[in-house]
Amino acid sequence: MEYPGNLFVVAAPSGAGKSTLVKALLELDAKLDVSISHTSRQPRGQEQHGREYWFISADEFNGMAARGEFFEWAQVHGNLYGTSRAAIEERMAHGDDVVLEIDFQGALQIKKLFPYAVLIFILPPSWEELMLRLNRRGDTAPDVIAERMSNAREEVAQARHFDFVVVNAVFETALFDLKSIVHAQRLKYAAQRRNRSAVFRALDLP
Ligand code: 5GP
Repeated sequence: MEYPGNLFVVAAPSGAGKSTLVKALLELDAKLDVSISHTSRQPRGQEQHGREYWFISADEFNGMAARGEFFEWAQVHGNLYGTSRAAIEERMAHGDDVVLEIDFQGALQIKKLFPYAVLIFILPPSWEELMLRLNRRGDTAPDVIAERMSNAREEVAQARHFDFVVVNAVFETALFDLKSIVHAQRLKYAAQRRNRSAVFRALDLP
């Protein structure tokens, strides 16, 4: 593979605004594709099989894991989640840019497999604000919020292993930061050599 597509991995504690940010990023950027994970959890609200996730049973999930069909998988909040090889291998082989929206355990596994993957951690501006956002969702029981807050402390401590950190205090600013990371990645020499091959040839660049 001359130059694989960029692989962006976005992680954050629950309530930091990761899904909304990634959704907005994808809407703005037609060259970016999101990988659809498999999960053993039940669909919530309007979620659809094959859109938000591939919803499968824990048995099916364990079978796929045993057959080595996942690049990474992890247990998060009591459910199993994994990135299948099929979800990203083909896109990357074509040189497409792919975003994985996964938890920090998965992100660190991906970095081991693909050292060039770009790990982005989204932080809330404070613990108080994270608590407010979790409460504002209105669909989460108080004991679940308490558990998410205690998990968040563990998750946030992993931010130092990531390449980039985006603080989601003001949504537009955080989105701009995310776009900037994606853009800068596409300006790297190897990426430009593939994407601007005519210029490189004309300038006799290797
Ligand atoms: P939710 O159930 O709220 O959609 O997701 C719970 C957590 O699991 C989130 O942090 C989400 O990013 C993470 N997650 C989703 N898909 C994957 C995956 O394929 N692998 C890993 N490791 N985590 C995932």
